[in-house]
Amino acid sequence: MAPEFVLRYLVTHEAVHLAVPDHSQKFWLTVRSLCKETERAKQWLSANTQRLTVDLREIIPGWGDTPRARDGEGNGRAKGASAQAVPTTGPRPARAEATTL
Ligand SMILES: [Zn+2]
Repeated sequence: MAPEFVLRYLVTHEAVHLAVPDHSQKFWLTVRSLCKETERAKQWLSANTQRLTVDLREIIPGWGDTPRARDGEGNGRAKGASAQAVPTTGPRPARAEATTL
């Protein structure tokens, strides 16, 4: 888990997105005004991204065991294909990667 100052930054970052959807100068000025440890948190995240990666197979029983449509099949783009409730884009990834903040 990330340290508290990083969590505060992440919550601030996402909360500011409710008002400013992009990463414009206005966005960063707002984030920095609300979270004084923004730069420190961003540095921590850059250095520790790997620590935040979760192997879903370890926390969700059966993750990755279910057969899935291969790439290009059942993705909702094929003309004439039957409707699917949940579009699939291929096998589920074995690892969830951190997003770029
Ligand atoms: Zn963002």
